[in-house]
Amino acid sequence: MRFDVITLFPELIEPYLHTGVTRRAFASGQVQVRLWPLREFAEGNYRRVDDRPFGGGPGMVMLPEPLFRCWQAVRADRGLPATRSPGAAVDVPTVLFSPAGEVLCHAVVQRWAQPTQPGAILVCGRYEGIDQRFIDACVDERISLGDFVLSGGEIAAVALLDAVARLQPGVLGDADSATQDSFHPALDGLLDCPHYTRPEVWRGPAGPVGVPPVLLSGHHAHIEAWRRQQRLLATARLRPDVLAQARQAGRLTPADERWLAQHAAEGPPGGR
Ligand code: SAM
Repeated sequence: MRFDVITLFPELIEPYLHTGVTRRAFASGQVQVRLWPLREFAEGNYRRVDDRPFGGGPGMVMLPEPLFRCWQAVRADRGLPATRSPGAAVDVPTVLFSPAGEVLCHAVVQRWAQPTQPGAILVCGRYEGIDQRFIDACVDERISLGDFVLSGGEIAAVALLDAVARLQPGVLGDADSATQDSFHPALDGLLDCPHYTRPEVWRGPAGPVGVPPVLLSGHHAHIEAWRRQQRLLATARLRPDVLAQARQAGRLTPADERWLAQHAAEGPPGGR
């Protein structure tokens, strides 16, 4: 799949494509990323990309024309007609990062991560936002990172690209890693369980703290049962909304429900 990112600040995104475990997905081309510096599509000596808002008010608004020229260039580079007639089927979707968008979640990432998916043209806003006429003409959907305001869409673009990359086969060192993470359907959408590593006894600020003994037992089935129980407890305590979704989807077994009824008030051993 291929993602084309329209941005005023490609230098904010570039390092993420070469860093950490997800760089494998970008280097191998499993997830192709092309950065399109918007200023190169602006005209005049100053290569202006923004102007004051009609009607007054604070801040600046991104001009529609450089965005449209860049969007057309991306489409041409993909071998698509430079424009789409109104009402035409979406060939490659254009996504605007926006606080008004659908909040990014595992199900949305998984949809974007399908290898059969064509990817998308990602538009990173800046300033007060983008001239609405470009949005109306070219944007197919909006994605938000949550109910707060960032200074630009680049962090949201990196978040989406990172989440998509780590779901690609072979990208994480351990083939099962992604399926063991929070929200994954393989774990019924629950939160991850607590993790522990060396030393067996850690001398922390509250004194020596051990590791749950079952993790040292070597008994695989007991460890798996403990992890399931801890996922249930963590989800019940920290994200009751996520537990309710799992319950509604019929993902909790009678044994899960019995365990929750007995222990939900306790919370996970990690506590937080
Ligand atoms: N005036 C806009 C509003 O109140 O909704 C906020 C503009 S914000 C300062 C500039 C750009 O950052 C937006 O156009 C968008 O691309 C990006 N952005 C801000 N918050 C975001 C969020 N929660 N999720 C995704 N992108 C966001």
